[in-house]
Amino acid sequence: MTMIGDDLQHVNNRIAKACVTAGRNPGEVRLLAVSKTFGPDAVREAHAAGQSAFGENYVQEGLDKIEALADLRATLEWHCIGPLQSNKTRPVAEQFDWVHSVDRLKIAERLSAQRPAQLAPLNVCLQVNVDGGPNKSGVPPEEAVALALAVAALPQLRLRGLMAIPEPAESFDAQRELFLRAHAVYRAIGEAGIALDTLSLGMSADLEAAISAGSTMVRVGTAIFGGRARKPA
Ligand SMILES: *Cc1c(COP(=O)(O)O)cnc(C)c1O
Repeated sequence: MTMIGDDLQHVNNRIAKACVTAGRNPGEVRLLAVSKTFGPDAVREAHAAGQSAFGENYVQEGLDKIEALADLRATLEWHCIGPLQSNKTRPVAEQFDWVHSVDRLKIAERLSAQRPAQLAPLNVCLQVNVDGGPNKSGVPPEEAVALALAVAALPQLRLRGLMAIPEPAESFDAQRELFLRAHAVYRAIGEAGIALDTLSLGMSADLEAAISAGSTMVRVGTAIFGGRARKPA
């Protein structure tokens, strides 16, 4: 097996083990392979090893990869997970399948208006700022229910859930506590009458804590593709 194939299997084993430890069914947690900074060939290799969902942080880098892998498009699912500026929403609405980083209504309105009518609604998650840094992306938890109600009403979007990127914590339990804040917001939105199915939490270093806190989708880069030599484009 290839190195990426080996690493994918190792990550899938970690996910399965974390689910068992948390008393959850391993089928409840999806793996999103974060391919930022790696070229189309790495995605091709992961795809050949059975991986279908890929995450990109930078819009142009993602668009270039989607184009380079057009022959596989029907069997790939592309997720935009990086901060999104309003002047970049159109190609995202046209080319991606998911956006995890919606944190204000204006972005959501543009994505909905720009999503081509012949495509299925764009899947979106709201990014929630669970640890409160003023410079961090994400809607404050106390504003998340109102934003969810507004986003859920947009015709060409399908609100699937929440994404959060808490800071690294000192211990498993401290990390889990930060993830549980996202889970609490997720429950509050459900109680407001909006059915969600996706909690996008956890990366290479903290996926076990995220799964113990209810994650249904872990976003993993380094543990699959190796260290990133450069910052994303
Ligand atoms: C880069 C990135 C990841 C993956 O991080 P790793 O530590 O390489 O697993 C996940 N989510 C987001 C939003 C990222 O930017």
